[in-house]
Amino acid sequence: MNLVLLGAPGAGKGTQAQKLTAEFGMAHISTGDLLRGAIAAGTPLGLEAKGYMDAGALVPDELVLSLLKERLAADDVQNGFILDGYPRNTAQAVTLDAVLGEMGKDVDAALLVSVDPAIIIDRLSRRRACKACGFTCNDTYEVCPRCGGELYQRDDDKPETIQNRLDTYATKTAPLIEYFKGQDKLVEVDGLGDVDEVYANVKEALGL
Ligand code: ADP
Repeated sequence: MNLVLLGAPGAGKGTQAQKLTAEFGMAHISTGDLLRGAIAAGTPLGLEAKGYMDAGALVPDELVLSLLKERLAADDVQNGFILDGYPRNTAQAVTLDAVLGEMGKDVDAALLVSVDPAIIIDRLSRRRACKACGFTCNDTYEVCPRCGGELYQRDDDKPETIQNRLDTYATKTAPLIEYFKGQDKLVEVDGLGDVDEVYANVKEALGL
């Protein structure tokens, strides 16, 4: 199954993607993780992207696209994929259709995880990520519950950036809900509740 995840920052897209890939073996393609990887590696692309990310803005389409294309060329994509963080505006959605079309692939469904913005601000400010494996959890953990690695707070999870990311989502990304509705691919789940409850709803909504 080829899936696109939609939802505001902090809606739980990454968490649900981690669970789906662990159970069903699709490739988890997070453009945010790809960009953070480029920053950590100190590539020119990473350096250019960092300023946009720290400001809570979108990174220019062509930078993200080059990372995405490279990732889509990997073997594990044959088992299906979950796109987490792409597309993030209408131009990217149109590009994605073209890129997948060239590969003889298509998006099967766009899963919208919806959560009240007030809850999102609390979740994001408590979110922590693992330096070693990228796993995300919250500030109740001292070390990564998956690999024992050191946890850190992403630069863009600082309060001053969170509101900008939510605004960017509302103006640029939320219109994609209508885009995928128009393709008859939108599936919506309530992102409120604990991780396993949401996951059960996700699987039911996707018929998995
Ligand atoms: P979240 O969805 O929780 O905000 P991500 O890790 O998906 O976190 O993205 C972090 C940042 O990376 C975004 O705020 C944006 O600056 C950049 N980014 C990720 N994906 C894209 C994309 N498809 N297009 C442009 N910028 C992106």
